[in-house]
Amino acid sequence: MILRDVEVEGRCGLDVRLADGRIAEIGPRLAARGDEIDGRGGALIPGLCDHHIHLFGYAARADSVALEDARGPDDVSARIAAAAAGRAEGAWIRALGYHERIAGELSRDDLDRLAPNHPLRVQHQTGALWVLNSRALAALGEGDDPPGLDRASGRIWREDAWLRARLRAAPPPLAPVGRTLAALGIAALTDASVTTDADAAARLAEAHRTGALPQRLTLMSGGALEAPADGAFAVGPLKVLLDDHALPDLDDFVARIGRARAWGRAVAVHCVTAGELALTLAAFATAGARPGDRVEHGGVIPAAAIPQLRDLGLTVVTQSAFVRERGDRYAAEVDPAELGDLYRCASLRAAGVPVAGSSDAPYASPDPWAGMAAAVDRRSAGGAVLGAGEAVDAATALSLYLGDPADPGGPPRRVAVGETADLVLLDAPLRDVLGEPSAAHVRLTLMDGAVAHGR
Ligand SMILES: [Zn+2]
Repeated sequence: MILRDVEVEGRCGLDVRLADGRIAEIGPRLAARGDEIDGRGGALIPGLCDHHIHLFGYAARADSVALEDARGPDDVSARIAAAAAGRAEGAWIRALGYHERIAGELSRDDLDRLAPNHPLRVQHQTGALWVLNSRALAALGEGDDPPGLDRASGRIWREDAWLRARLRAAPPPLAPVGRTLAALGIAALTDASVTTDADAAARLAEAHRTGALPQRLTLMSGGALEAPADGAFAVGPLKVLLDDHALPDLDDFVARIGRARAWGRAVAVHCVTAGELALTLAAFATAGARPGDRVEHGGVIPAAAIPQLRDLGLTVVTQSAFVRERGDRYAAEVDPAELGDLYRCASLRAAGVPVAGSSDAPYASPDPWAGMAAAVDRRSAGGAVLGAGEAVDAATALSLYLGDPADPGGPPRRVAVGETADLVLLDAPLRDVLGEPSAAHVRLTLMDGAVAHGR
């Protein structure tokens, strides 16, 4: 295949020939051979990498009815009816984000009216309560009801583990997620879920082999994980999930790092609070850090921690989109003296700490272009600026998503002869796209030289 008239690394009017999944030739007016695509002067860039995502969580969210912004009872009915219309009779419908200010308290009878032919469960915005309709309650089976379940009202309080075990729910489909991410120009994904085990990894590998999930996969896990012989996924760092309310003791943490080393793996630690970061720095200082060790989120990084991050050689994998999506809440709730510590970027880079970009979807939007825009303007949805000094220019923001999945925050991958043809064709020169980063500029996403998304 030949891409005609594209901009490559700042040079315009070039043709790029792809063969055997790689970039075979770059130059002006290459001889015709095979399929051709007119790039119309748009930039050709490496496919983006989301360095921290939760694929099953995102797939479940994508497969659910969102009710957070429903406008009253009629809107709730319409959304559930639309989901029912798109499913076979008897297939589960899951709705998330309900709050009684939308249409009052919900009961089993209300849900029976909303979805007479499907098992339906609706989660309250707090996550603490599910309401189920009669078909859903029947599908759970009888007996061994936990204290939080009231079958008469269809309500289940704080019994998620029991519910999950009883549901034995089929995993959510991954193909819609693969398509959505390809349309955003994403060619590589690092799943950061601590819960990934051999079964979950096998399902992701199969989705990759069938093309449902065309992106290259790197999987973290909380325990041992074997890479498949065909390379359907790469094994990433061992994930350590900290919880500020129940931090492990230092010895336990250091032992976990030791286990990762025995498996030849780096370690990625969930650090949202300053307390989690302090413990993480102490653990790496004790156990020793190695290249590839990562701090996930870096939600709060006090200035004093920056030289420690650098000296340990840790990479910070950030999510600038939280500034946009949660910034107003932070501005209201976080001590003003600490607002500058939130989701740092520029100060880390200036100190020599590698920074990589990611979404943490489904907890924030999976759109890397929205993430770039927030990294540049540091604005909340309500317009508050958080940590103006942490802003980076748009080219730097893009580069956060261009590192190799095995070296997040490392040098951006390149569009050069011999490189893998995981590429994104934009609809305009890069300078124009960076002026207003948006997924609307993604015209074509290629994986191994084959079209994974095109419009
Ligand atoms: Zn995460």
